[in-house]
Amino acid sequence: MNELTTTIARARAALNAGEGQKALELARAALDAARSPDALAEQLAESLNLHGDVLLFRSEYAEAMSCFIEALDLWRQLDKSAMVVGCLHSIAQIDMHVGNLAEAAKACSAALTLAAGLDAATQAPLLQRMGMLYARLGDLERAQKFHEEAASYHRMIGDDAALASALNSIGTLYLRSGEENVKNDPVKARQAFLSARNQLETAAEIAKRTTDRHLQGLIAGNIGSVLARLGQLDDALELMHLQLEIVRSAGDRYNESLCLANIGEAMRLAGRPTDALEVVKDALTIAESLNSVMRQRRAHEELSNCFEELGDFRSALFHYKRFDHFKDAVHAEQTERQTHDLQIQVAVNEVRAQAESYRAERDRLEHLNARLHDEAYRDPLTQLSNRRSLDEGLEDAYSRSVRDKTPLAIALADVDHFKLINDRFSHATGDQVLRQISTLLRRALRDRDLVARYGGEEFALVLVGLELDRALMACERLRAAVQGYRWSEIHPDLQVTISIGVTAETSLGSGSAMLEAADHKLYEAKRAGRNRISH
Ligand code: GH3
Ligand code: MG
Ligand code: MG
Repeated sequence: MNELTTTIARARAALNAGEGQKALELARAALDAARSPDALAEQLAESLNLHGDVLLFRSEYAEAMSCFIEALDLWRQLDKSAMVVGCLHSIAQIDMHVGNLAEAAKACSAALTLAAGLDAATQAPLLQRMGMLYARLGDLERAQKFHEEAASYHRMIGDDAALASALNSIGTLYLRSGEENVKNDPVKARQAFLSARNQLETAAEIAKRTTDRHLQGLIAGNIGSVLARLGQLDDALELMHLQLEIVRSAGDRYNESLCLANIGEAMRLAGRPTDALEVVKDALTIAESLNSVMRQRRAHEELSNCFEELGDFRSALFHYKRFDHFKDAVHAEQTERQTHDLQIQVAVNEVRAQAESYRAERDRLEHLNARLHDEAYRDPLTQLSNRRSLDEGLEDAYSRSVRDKTPLAIALADVDHFKLINDRFSHATGDQVLRQISTLLRRALRDRDLVARYGGEEFALVLVGLELDRALMACERLRAAVQGYRWSEIHPDLQVTISIGVTAETSLGSGSAMLEAADHKLYEAKRAGRNRISH
């Protein structure tokens, strides 16, 4: 395993262990190394993915987006569909985080289309993401369909943690729909709560088979909320305590405060307002230490309810006022968060626009480069390689032949009495003849052979791996092809032949020395009467 691969693996391990800072440092080091010229494109793409994942974990959305967009491009070039799908999924995830729901839907459906031919393990997380997206858009029915489809895939693959998470999502959809119906349609609401309980209990059973404590706690808390809605307060309390224990052992103070307030509410409803008071006071202490407006508000609300239940209306009023005070503050916090989200959204969209214009620019540069290369190495009349291209290709072929001890033949072909063709028909006809001969040469030779326009009506041929015998056969084929071509199609009286000089003498010391020898042979062929081959 090379050093870069090791760094990538260590960064992944740190990320999985939740060590964000360490993961970030390692991911940066990996990316730096992967940008060096001798790293493979695949390693660069992998490092970009990794860096993006770490930034996403740290909620640095605009930076993460830029990594995934660059990685996406690379995976597309490398033709790795599963990785392309993964990048699109991450992009959708970022768009969802910053409230870019339309963009998220676009990325997600592009990923789903591409994933259609891939395995279930690639498709399942996307279906779940679509479910979350529709839940955010308020389309609970569609959300449920996607989560159910995801669940069936997870079941097929045997991924318990993912299956439990999908069922938990379905359960919370039912819980939400129940809460929305409590006032106007209590019967429908109760039905929804029962469905929620079913789904969540199945989720809890499956989650027990995994080691994911966070997931287990989340599901337990959700079942608690459903049971409290159904009036099963003792069972609700038991589950909420289970979640509390898990949240506490993870050091998650924010959710500990919420959990305590929920437990207080359930205790009060169960007729234990004095116990409830103690628990909710703890919730408030934590909320104050976190300086969390949302959590303080929730604690004051529940404290006010408890004091009212106990007949202490003065305290109830005090906490109600505090609750009311935080209502504005919560509103302000939400507004602030929305503004923050909007700022990030703008940044994320800017990154996207930059990446797109960068891509267009790069395509244009590539196009220009290809054209420049063509102009520098191609003969404009015949589209064959030019003299410069020949000089490089010839010496390359020569040194490879010497190094690998493989045969090499060089031939020089020249049109017979071409001056007469120009004079008798026209310069334009002469040009046409040159183009047609080029086509015949290219067609008669293999792709690996180099065919170049050497001068006006002279063509150099580098026949890789051919001994003299086979080179002579190839040249004879060419000569006959030129002689046999129906030149009358260009002009009724037109006839064209070529003479060729060949050498396969690889001991001459260089490619250009071989070419010079071929030129001597060509001169002999002309002297001997033209339309022939000399070696
Ligand atoms: P030989 O059989 O001895 O090779 O006789 P030749 O007439 O082919 O040889 P010579 O070298 O005397 O004439 C080559 C002619 O090719 C001269 C030049 O005008 C013509 N020529 C060179 N480049 C082009 C071109 O791009 N197009 C056309 N139509 N003619 C060209
Ligand atoms: Mg000539
Ligand atoms: Mg000639």
